[in-house]
Amino acid sequence: MDATAKQLKELTEADGVPGFESNVRAIMTRELKKSCDSVSTDRLGSVFGVSGKTGPRVMVDGHMDEIGFLVKSITKDGFLKFLQLGGWWGHVALAQRFKVLTQNGPVIGVVGSTPPHMLDPDKRKKVLEVKELFLDIGSTDGYNAAEELGVRVGDPIVPVSEFTVLGNDKLYLAKAFDNRMACSVVLDVAKAAKKTKFPNRLIAAASVQEEVGLRGAQTLAWTSEPDVCIAIDTGIAQDIPTMDGSSATEKLTGGPSILVYDGSLIPNVRLRDLVIETAEKKKIPFHLTAMERGGEDGGRISLSRSGVASVMIGPPVRYIHSHNGIMHRDDYDSTVKLVTEVVKRLDAKTVKSLYA
Ligand SMILES: [Zn+2]
Repeated sequence: MDATAKQLKELTEADGVPGFESNVRAIMTRELKKSCDSVSTDRLGSVFGVSGKTGPRVMVDGHMDEIGFLVKSITKDGFLKFLQLGGWWGHVALAQRFKVLTQNGPVIGVVGSTPPHMLDPDKRKKVLEVKELFLDIGSTDGYNAAEELGVRVGDPIVPVSEFTVLGNDKLYLAKAFDNRMACSVVLDVAKAAKKTKFPNRLIAAASVQEEVGLRGAQTLAWTSEPDVCIAIDTGIAQDIPTMDGSSATEKLTGGPSILVYDGSLIPNVRLRDLVIETAEKKKIPFHLTAMERGGEDGGRISLSRSGVASVMIGPPVRYIHSHNGIMHRDDYDSTVKLVTEVVKRLDAKTVKSLYA
């Protein structure tokens, strides 16, 4: 594994569901300090480094939180009921390993599932809702695991999944590419800013609580006062048999997705066009995507103060919001390259022109 793969491994394996991002923040703070002139946090827990002394404030942002659960109640037999932090489809949580972070340390459990032998035909067809699921951390008659192990209502529950390089070794399998991939991009752009002087002040930012409604982005933008924002988040790869397959435009090796619309953001048109022109000039593959639903940090940041020109870019990833996403290294590298090239072009005159 090279340095980039190691960075992605460390970031994706860190535990950090919404509201509990401290492990990820520690990594981001440690790394931002190596590249940036100053590193600050806001009071909700987002962190940002600033590089450069003059020029417009250009934010590159990724959220640190990953989807997970929170202990909602404990049954009298010691099983855990939970509520969701971020969007889950019941199916992908079934039979998966999770870790409860208790006051006494981590406790492993599995989301219990009924064996097919015991399911009548109707039940087999049904998609389970999260409220029907439970976590088994090892109770038996006379041993109430939750009590014995010190589990409390409110403890966070995080997916367990190891970063793995697949046989096709440009493909990486991991949890939380949404959005630790972006944390890694933010660090790589900050490194580039240290090497080459940019005509602006780079705000290399990592937000909290995106998956529960873009909350961290709001206080982060207020605190760091960006003039422009490039939000990094995952595209959704559709080159799989249950979607568009090989005819998909949003696919692994297709380069970063440039979002033209989602439920939270209509990008600043000039900024969007600058991103497209830059990709074309630098011969970086890309594709345009529109998502009718959903939102991301860029949407909330664009609404800060009197408005911030924002756009969202990110590599397509298969199977996001599950224990195992797949990302192609070339798409990651293309994203870093595109974002770095766009940031380089955002001098005072260009930023002013975004608002003309
Ligand atoms: Zn995300």
